[in-house]
Amino acid sequence: MTSDQKTSFPNMLQALYDNSPIGVCVIENERFLMVNKQFESITGIPAEQMLSSVTIDILLTCFNKRDRKKLLSLLKGTRKSQLESSILNHIGAHKSIRVVTNTIEYPTGPIAIAYFLDITSLQKSQEELQTRSVELEAQIAIANILVHPGTFEEKVKQVLKVLAQVANSDIAALRVPDEIHNGLRMVAAAVTESKAFAPAPLLPYNEGLAGQAFLTGKPVVTNNYPSHPLAMPQVIDTGLQSVAVLPIKVGNEIRGVLHLNSWKHNTYTKETMKHISGVADAIGALLENARLTEAEHERSYELLNANQILEAQAADLARSNADLEQFAYVASHDLQEPLRVVSNYVQLLANKYQNQLDTDAHEFIQYALGASKQMYDLINDLLSYSQIGHADNPLEIINVESAILQAISNLEIAIENSGASITYGKIPKVSANYVQITQVIQNLLSNALKFQGADPPRIHIEVTSLENRWRFSFSDNGIGIEPRFHERIFMIFQRLHSRSQYAGTGVGLPICKKIIERHGGSIWVESIPDSGSVFHFTLPK
Ligand code: ADP
Repeated sequence: MTSDQKTSFPNMLQALYDNSPIGVCVIENERFLMVNKQFESITGIPAEQMLSSVTIDILLTCFNKRDRKKLLSLLKGTRKSQLESSILNHIGAHKSIRVVTNTIEYPTGPIAIAYFLDITSLQKSQEELQTRSVELEAQIAIANILVHPGTFEEKVKQVLKVLAQVANSDIAALRVPDEIHNGLRMVAAAVTESKAFAPAPLLPYNEGLAGQAFLTGKPVVTNNYPSHPLAMPQVIDTGLQSVAVLPIKVGNEIRGVLHLNSWKHNTYTKETMKHISGVADAIGALLENARLTEAEHERSYELLNANQILEAQAADLARSNADLEQFAYVASHDLQEPLRVVSNYVQLLANKYQNQLDTDAHEFIQYALGASKQMYDLINDLLSYSQIGHADNPLEIINVESAILQAISNLEIAIENSGASITYGKIPKVSANYVQITQVIQNLLSNALKFQGADPPRIHIEVTSLENRWRFSFSDNGIGIEPRFHERIFMIFQRLHSRSQYAGTGVGLPICKKIIERHGGSIWVESIPDSGSVFHFTLPK
């Protein structure tokens, strides 16, 4: 063949025909006259096989019954429009094709030319696009529902409505486990108006498709409900055809099932199930949200209750404290005067009748004087205790070391008498009331001196810096305190010894506690009998 011949017009046409991306076949009298390579590839039938066949039946086997007829009428020219069909070709591949034909009249009779266009990938991407856009629409609708206010049931119902549309369903329902009634309870359902069918309010756990999906955690789908082994007779009677049940999961936990019913055949294709699974996730999120909100409500309700009780108790306490303080103040203040009169007169009695009274009488008078002194001390301490909250005691930056030195100087005689040594480390400045802090320090030091053990008192003051407060620690080598009394000693008038053993009224530590707490700190003791004590208190930084 010359180069001219090679590039001649008929040759070019032949090459076009051979290499065309469109499958072409020429048919005369229901027999193949010509087929090109693409036609072979689409149908999966070798060219020789087609060309040697006496009919085109071999091609027809690729089509379903309905499309076979359409193809034949296209080839005969009795049908003009094109055909789109899904075929199963001879090598087992599913393909989507578009068929266009034209018929040419020859003197020998008509010749049909069929063009087969492989639109499999086109269709796939179209379907994909369709899926995406349906999914997107559903997601937008659901997101809208979720962000708008409404009760959980209302929202679920709206989501189900969207779902019923997306999945071409007549019924969409949500069921959750109900432990009281031992079954899957319907929370909400969207039912199309065309079918008057009420889904059962409660389904036993182990019955039907819903039960299976719930127990296995896997979707159960049928497009031929009556033939499904788990179909229920009363539901079959309704004429239901397609059912899909999806488990609703939050993490690994199955929280319920999404139930879809349709009276049409083949409703739940793979594509549809893909759309639905996204909605199932959204409902899972809703369920979780509802559970959290409920738990939160319960918790906040409990908190509110507890808070109200606490507030009421605090108000009661404040009222009774105020009453008590008022009483203590009035009593101690008003008692001072008659007490002074009593002790003055007893003293007068002792002086005036010194020579006329016998030793017993003098002893009684001494008792009376001692008792009134004790009562005077008690009243005085009670008065100072009740005044802690009342007095005008402003907070300022104070040098605690000065307060320590002041307290030591106030206790000079007791320190000298006991031979005590008092040491201290680095002492910070704090925001406090100088007079009151001096009183605390003095009370603690005076106790450490008073409750000394066999050796002379050794007292050390140490300050530790904590995150947002200072901790002051007063350690001594005194008699110590049994752990069971560690709290009691901070209560008013509580003492562990008789007055003859150790002087005092039992108000010193309660005063310290009241002052420290008023400053926003706390006070406590660590101690073992015979091993000394450490009194700690904290003050905010
Ligand atoms: P008072 O010193 O007037 O008895 P306080 O309220 O100061 O009252 O102390 C209450 C009790 O706590 C004391 O009676 C004593 O039993 C015990 N106590 C306090 N400080 C010490 C201490 N440093 N060592 C041992 N016991 C102590």
